[in-house]
Amino acid sequence: MSEYRGRLAPTPTGYLHAGHAATFGTAHQRAVERQGTLVFRMEDLDPARCKREFVDAALEDLNWLGFGWQEGPFFQSERTEHYLAAWRTLKNLGVIYPCTKSRKDVEFAPFAPHEEEKLFPTDWRPPIGAGQNLEQPDGFNWRFRVPDGRKIAFTDLRCGPFSRTAGDEFGDFLVWRRDGIPAYELAVVVDDIAMQINEVVRGEDLLVSTCRQLLIYEALNAEAPAFYHCPLLRDAQGERLAKRAGAQSIRALRDAGASPESLTAFTE
Ligand code: GLU
Repeated sequence: MSEYRGRLAPTPTGYLHAGHAATFGTAHQRAVERQGTLVFRMEDLDPARCKREFVDAALEDLNWLGFGWQEGPFFQSERTEHYLAAWRTLKNLGVIYPCTKSRKDVEFAPFAPHEEEKLFPTDWRPPIGAGQNLEQPDGFNWRFRVPDGRKIAFTDLRCGPFSRTAGDEFGDFLVWRRDGIPAYELAVVVDDIAMQINEVVRGEDLLVSTCRQLLIYEALNAEAPAFYHCPLLRDAQGERLAKRAGAQSIRALRDAGASPESLTAFTE
């Protein structure tokens, strides 16, 4: 393998919690063990939800935990031109289309009982080629037309073989939002390619997202990195740690006397 390149990629919509400490701790540890490079990327695309205060807090918390990085921080909010270039490539290839349906429309669409999540109804798709004449994404949600019936599979470094069938277990997904913001699935792939990331360490809640992202890698003719999805921490009631669970934020734990080691001792 060429030099290991991983990343720390928090979203500054709240204070980081103990679950982030565990996941980022794993990312840091894997990079250190392999004498690799760690890139810091702030996933601050959504101006309505991302706050400067949380950006500063994330940097401070990760520093306090002792997770150093060699490159960055890079800010997604400053990288729009890269996402736009990828949007144009995907649009010209005809794998994405402009969509006028809102999140609410999708929420209220009928769905089959076996579905794990609500899928974008395929009869809402425009004809193939729709939107290819558009020069800018503005004014539309843009969705990736998934290859119905194709099993998208990969072997996760921790979870083992994982697959989901496109069009059945996940549907057409957003790559660009009507309000002009690139969607997570697109931005993360564009950045992981540009930053030459060859191992992605993140939470297990993103396993299905990885299937979506593999379709974007394929369309962009880029090699996908390896993936290592970490277990999600749960509280005593079995609930997943939510970002806004203030009492469990890294800084609250620090202020209550926790040491960095106590927050990362359980990393694998
Ligand atoms: N920014 C995402 C998060 O904080 C992680 C995305 C990723 O690692 O791909 O949950």
